[in-house]
Amino acid sequence: MPQHNLPIRHRLKAVVLIPLAAMAIALAVVSRPALHLALTAWNDQDQITPLPTGMVDDASRLNPTRMQIVQVPNHPVKAKALLRNLLQQAKIRGQKVAIAGARHTMGGQTIYAKGISLDMTGFNRMQLNPTTGILTVQSGAKWSKVIPYLNQQGYSVAVMQSNNDFSVGGTMNANAHGWQPDRPPFASTVESFELMLADGRIVQCSRQTNRELFSLVLGGYGLFGIILEVKLRVVPNQLYSAERTVIPSRDYVETYRRAVTKDVGMAYGRLSIAPDRFLQEAILTTYHRQTIGDRPLPLTESQPGIARTVFRGSVGNDYGKNLRWQLEKLNGGEVGTHVTRNQILNRPSSLFENYKQAETEILHEYFIPPESLELFLEQCRVIIPKHQADLLSVTVRNVYPDQDSFLRYADQEMFGLVMLFHQQRTAADEVKMQVLTQALIEAALAVGGRYYLPYRLHATPSQFDRAYPQATKFFQLKQKYDSNLIFDNYFYTKYGR
Ligand SMILES: Cc1cc2nc3c(=O)[nH]c(=O)nc-3n(C[C@H](O)[C@H](O)[C@H](O)COP(=O)(O)OP(=O)(O)OC[C@H]3O[C@@H](n4cnc5c(N)ncnc54)[C@H](O)[C@@H]3O)c2cc1C
Repeated sequence: MPQHNLPIRHRLKAVVLIPLAAMAIALAVVSRPALHLALTAWNDQDQITPLPTGMVDDASRLNPTRMQIVQVPNHPVKAKALLRNLLQQAKIRGQKVAIAGARHTMGGQTIYAKGISLDMTGFNRMQLNPTTGILTVQSGAKWSKVIPYLNQQGYSVAVMQSNNDFSVGGTMNANAHGWQPDRPPFASTVESFELMLADGRIVQCSRQTNRELFSLVLGGYGLFGIILEVKLRVVPNQLYSAERTVIPSRDYVETYRRAVTKDVGMAYGRLSIAPDRFLQEAILTTYHRQTIGDRPLPLTESQPGIARTVFRGSVGNDYGKNLRWQLEKLNGGEVGTHVTRNQILNRPSSLFENYKQAETEILHEYFIPPESLELFLEQCRVIIPKHQADLLSVTVRNVYPDQDSFLRYADQEMFGLVMLFHQQRTAADEVKMQVLTQALIEAALAVGGRYYLPYRLHATPSQFDRAYPQATKFFQLKQKYDSNLIFDNYFYTKYGR
């Protein structure tokens, strides 16, 4: 029947009420997320109080400590003279020296109360030999300075963390790893380095010279000496196109094996932390190599944009967590576009950091053998809700066996699960986080896994020993190379004696 022949009541319904109802539904669908994100953005103001002079802290914001801070200059002769003199004085006065790069460890690995804090970040010169692909760099240089320098010359970092906030020395001492698939940790890219020992002597360390020290320093948390100049093997910068696959997390390893083909230069996974799909679903992102021209591609500054608001809106908020996961699945991010390796690596983690004075966010990482990944996740699905922990993200990386460092976390191929938890900066929340961490470490150990050492020192000494069976020998060798125990920090205090 033509519409003009309909009774007036039916015409009103067709012309006015149905579109109005559709608009109301559309508004309801859009308005809840819009309101949620608007409120999050409104509350997301930087409230962090700067540390008073003479105090240091680390990325946990749970370790404010008074120390004597010494800045190391980048002039090599002046730096070496200053450090030698400082070590002599420390020995005479019985003082401890804790070395610091960008202070992104979280358990006082750079801190010793009333000791000397060596701030290495000013020690940051660098020079690339483009013929050999070897970068000579002072250990305090941060990746945020190294990457733009390499970018101008068409080079990039071979293995590093997923962000650019860290120093070369800090990266060496944690023996970091990132989104580089099928690669051992960072140590594999170190050719050699100069090390100032506790007695002020400078020695060269490489796989050929002072091999024992070479392996102890890499992953050695600042306990053997001060790393000065480093020679790193770097790789050509590359252009990638990104692809993403959404899969059940139980299929992660199998999908990874299929998707990470020879043309993939970087890859990482993300697991759902949304209550509706808690650790049940994953997004695997792979970066496929494209042809890059001769001209260096410019780096652009990363902006947090709406991604920060979506992320911050998931803190302590189940609705926000579900919304974020839906958006992450929908939004292809870089999919369909081209992005360079350096652009991916040059993102600061600070883009997403917590701005609230009373709160903080803490990382954990568990290294799990491929065949046990789902077994470990099954445990996590029980343990994390049982402890009512606020889990904000889980990323997954692949690490190949480490042949270089002494205190190694990857003595076989591992998948690293990086978990970010939210907590209050209170003693009560510290206890809760400790109990949760110990339960997760136990679950990782039970399936042949390990945990990562740069974060909170919540593991019991027995858990540490079981995860790192080389530890007893490692600490004996510490005493051999630093008999006055000058290099010290909270990590050594807790597990070394
Ligand atoms: C937000 C965030 C994201 C992270 N992402 C990753 C990741 O993707 N992959 C990963 O593997 N790790 C990651 N980490 C851990 C990080 O790699 C380590 O904490 C690393 O040590 C940080 O480097 P840094 O310069 O801040 O080191 P610092 O915390 O300053 O120092 C770390 C250790 O190195 C020693 N040290 C530093 N410089 C020297 C030197 N010149 N000579 C001798 N000893 C020295 C210190 O004494 C200390 O024990 C992340 C950490 C945070 C907070």
